[in-house]
Amino acid sequence: MTQPRAILVTQDLSREFQGFRAVNSVNLSIAEGTVHALVGPNGAGKTTLFNLLTGFLKPSDGRIVFAGHDITGQPPERIARLGVARSFQVTSLFPQMTAREHVQLALQSGTGLGHRFWRTDKLMRRFSARAVELLDEVELAHHADRPAGTLPYGQKRALELALALALDPRLLLLDEPTAGMGLEDVERTVALVDRIREGRTVVMVEHNMTVVGSLADAVTVLQRGEVLVEGPYDRVKTDPRVIEAYLGADVA
Ligand code: ADP
Ligand code: MG
Repeated sequence: MTQPRAILVTQDLSREFQGFRAVNSVNLSIAEGTVHALVGPNGAGKTTLFNLLTGFLKPSDGRIVFAGHDITGQPPERIARLGVARSFQVTSLFPQMTAREHVQLALQSGTGLGHRFWRTDKLMRRFSARAVELLDEVELAHHADRPAGTLPYGQKRALELALALALDPRLLLLDEPTAGMGLEDVERTVALVDRIREGRTVVMVEHNMTVVGSLADAVTVLQRGEVLVEGPYDRVKTDPRVIEAYLGADVA
């Protein structure tokens, strides 16, 4: 069997906060076209790792290579342009803006055209049609004209996914996409991720092991900023170190 190409590689990636290593010499290799789960207890460094991969934080040490480009220390806009998009652990929507307006804004920022062309009707219509398509992809088309603030929690998260998809990313980073959701929304999100993974690579921080089991091809377990175990889900979930460090807490 041929090895799938790695679309994202980190080499000894580290980030310190006042001498504290939140991410400590992490070597990741994410195979193209896979769903790769990042798990580990709170404070393990998962969100910090996402911040490094997307340029929101600069590494203290190490290297990040995405699709053959060294993106170490590059600004977020450039990394996004190369095809890396993310969703946030905490929702970051504008309550008064409608779902459609959110997606239009995301589409606009993804074009690189800036505000100069924003006013032309042609572009407005193009964005508007594409916005509805994206909302449809996350099953929100019927809520296109609702202010984001009035959407239930699960649909806010779905809208954020649509915003990430607006960039048509090759690599999609999802930070706890099912956090705080009831069973129904969790199932909807799993189905959604399963759809949008088509033709892209997904790295997701996820605590729900059922979700990890049904979506992830590979799992990396982080603990105190370091990689504890890495491998296919079935192997990782039975690893004694993982059970002790992380899954054990769930079972208890
Ligand atoms: P996780 O997402 O795995 O729960 P985080 O990446 O959010 O963990 O945090 C990892 C560690 O880094 C935590 O101890 C956290 O307090 C610390 N940390 C994260 N961001 C900062 C920051 N901006 N300044 C100082 N410490 C931080
Ligand atoms: Mg986090």
